[in-house]
Amino acid sequence: MLVVLPGLQAGDAIDTQPELAGRVHVCPLTLYDAAECDSAAFLQEMMLLAEAAGTWRSVRARALLDTHAAHWPARLPPVRIEACGHVFAALPLLYLVMDGGFRCPMCRGGSHGAISLQRAALPWLPPGLWELLCLLCTEARSRTAQAAQAENEAVAREMQAAAPAVRALLFSEVLQELSIRAIFSIYRSGAHGAAAPDSPISVMVLDMQLRPRGAASAAVVFESGTSRHVSRPLRLGGVFAVRIVANAYEQTRILFDSHRVEYPSHARGACGDSPLDVGVPGEGVAGGAGALRMQYAACPFDHLYFMKRVEFTTSPAAVQAVFADF
Ligand SMILES: [Zn+2]
Repeated sequence: MLVVLPGLQAGDAIDTQPELAGRVHVCPLTLYDAAECDSAAFLQEMMLLAEAAGTWRSVRARALLDTHAAHWPARLPPVRIEACGHVFAALPLLYLVMDGGFRCPMCRGGSHGAISLQRAALPWLPPGLWELLCLLCTEARSRTAQAAQAENEAVAREMQAAAPAVRALLFSEVLQELSIRAIFSIYRSGAHGAAAPDSPISVMVLDMQLRPRGAASAAVVFESGTSRHVSRPLRLGGVFAVRIVANAYEQTRILFDSHRVEYPSHARGACGDSPLDVGVPGEGVAGGAGALRMQYAACPFDHLYFMKRVEFTTSPAAVQAVFADF
């Protein structure tokens, strides 16, 4: 059953009873089978977390848990984010997106829209459960906002103190701390209705590896080491975006953003024998100046060009600058 949570639009639909063909899906939020999350235990933990965080006490929340939890099914079915297909245990995902906005924790797809914490019951959840989630997440949002402010202040202080140390890091050490990925999104027009502008839906994440550098080369090249057929969703989507992101210390920085790009028209036609190498327009972000190229080769199935490799070229100084920003 497709459900749109209060305050969101159709592009953010979740499937509350997905067909999973009997396979076990490990929930990335719990690292357990997505079908094996104990509802009452999870909410009890969130309640304790909220109460331990400060002065929050909700007689209503406690009453909901005490009155209803025994009647809730021990296991809620997993949910699947319809746009990207990622599967999660229901309550951990709901809690996450009700606190921080709707986006997929795996691929970051989704509108990032705020879910309305109105307490009117949702028919697909057992009685009392949505109201309890709303109460818990109202508290969680204020706690998140406070934590973000405190963290910003702490990071600013640390950066001032640590800046010389970061600069002194060897470049090879910096690279070991960073993981680089290419995230592709398609713009699916109509996903949010005719009136609203279409928004990107992440369809593909590629890990990028550092190409060994020759002694003569000053450039740093990250490449997708795969020969996987990467472009079919893009070709179907027509308009796409690719972002190169760096992860370190559980944080993410965007190094390059193509914004909206048309799938190249010359790559749609029947292919010749030689691969195509196409530059992708876009801008470096957060000091991560660089250039992105796509390599297209013949698709064995329909003899059209498909995107086969991604190359991101940048400089040691740009990587250092981004790293210092973490
Ligand atoms: Zn996803």
